[in-house]
Amino acid sequence: VDEELRCIGCGAVIQSDDPDELGYTPASAVQKGLESGELYCQRCFRLRHYNEIAPVSLTDDDFLRLLSHIRDTKSLIVYVVDIFDVNGSLIPGLHRFVGDNPVMLVGNKEDLLPSSLRRNKLRDWLRQQVNQAGIRPISTVLVSAKKNHQIEDLLKEIDRRRNDRDVYVVGVTNVGKSTLINQIIKLRTGIKDLITTSRFPGTTLDQIEIPLDDGHQLVDTPGIIHQAQMAHVLPAKDLKVVTPQKEIKPRTYQLQDQQTIFLGGVARFDYLKGQKVGIVGYFDNNLPMHRTKLAHADDFYHKHLGGLLTPPSTDDLADFPPLERFEFAIKQKSDLVFEGLGWMTIPAGTVVAGWAPKGVAVLIRPAMI
Ligand code: GDP
Repeated sequence: VDEELRCIGCGAVIQSDDPDELGYTPASAVQKGLESGELYCQRCFRLRHYNEIAPVSLTDDDFLRLLSHIRDTKSLIVYVVDIFDVNGSLIPGLHRFVGDNPVMLVGNKEDLLPSSLRRNKLRDWLRQQVNQAGIRPISTVLVSAKKNHQIEDLLKEIDRRRNDRDVYVVGVTNVGKSTLINQIIKLRTGIKDLITTSRFPGTTLDQIEIPLDDGHQLVDTPGIIHQAQMAHVLPAKDLKVVTPQKEIKPRTYQLQDQQTIFLGGVARFDYLKGQKVGIVGYFDNNLPMHRTKLAHADDFYHKHLGGLLTPPSTDDLADFPPLERFEFAIKQKSDLVFEGLGWMTIPAGTVVAGWAPKGVAVLIRPAMI
């Protein structure tokens, strides 16, 4: 009989094809699990044995259905965003499914931003960014989950703000929510305390519950998959090259109009109109930048894509989408954002164009720095 195997931890159907999907279990582990009578998916296995959670993601529909029950709870929402990719961290309609519950904003990955940038200023800027998306956080905290910066402060702030409520941690995939939850688990619990039994309504997915002092709990939720991410355009090895791991060193270019800068082969910036200006790029320090004349830029791109202009590499050109162009007249000092890649800070009184692979957003916002 061709029976579906299920994880005895979370109930997900066991599969060995896609490590990023629910129920992933390496084939060798499936065999061992069957022999021992304890078949866990890799995520549940890690949780049991190493007290560590791996990210799980769902599609928008599943996610929204699943989270809409938060509306009916009396809880504090901890909304985690990637401060390097704020736009890519926005959850459309967040307020709809959290109802009247207060939202605390956590800006993660602060370690990527220049340490010279005042954190108070950064926090105000971040708050304004989410205000524009209709979210009014009751407080904003900057942390680095990876470097364990300000995690104790965050926990204190959560305790101060939650007023006898449960806590739900929400965020899109890749903002570092699992890294953060793992830090919290390390700080707050031993493995014996971790509860993973209650299911999200309508799914086979367990939620991670970390007990708090007074009988309440901090609940991790699956990450929503954000479609317009570089992750959907570049293979993993190239994604590593464009995703910053360390503090970003801003790169300044003195540009005349009718000049172009390529960011590897993944994005392009055209300076169309304006005086000679300084333009500052905030991208992974290893992403190569090349300057050309606008008039030659198309030819240059076709000639050098995959070579000088990499990533993508030559092997991956077949699946790499063409760049799409977006033009902006800049009225106030702004960031031209290539979603997930970084941004360029552009002075007022200029006209520019940003290009990114089809499906990756290009937008402007008030300058962060
Ligand atoms: P999730 O999908 O939201 O659960 O995100 P993960 O916790 O899996 O993290 C996504 C990526 O961001 C991983 O490559 C992490 O190493 C990285 N990351 C997480 N937290 C931080 C942080 O505070 N700083 C930096 N620089 N990277 C982080």
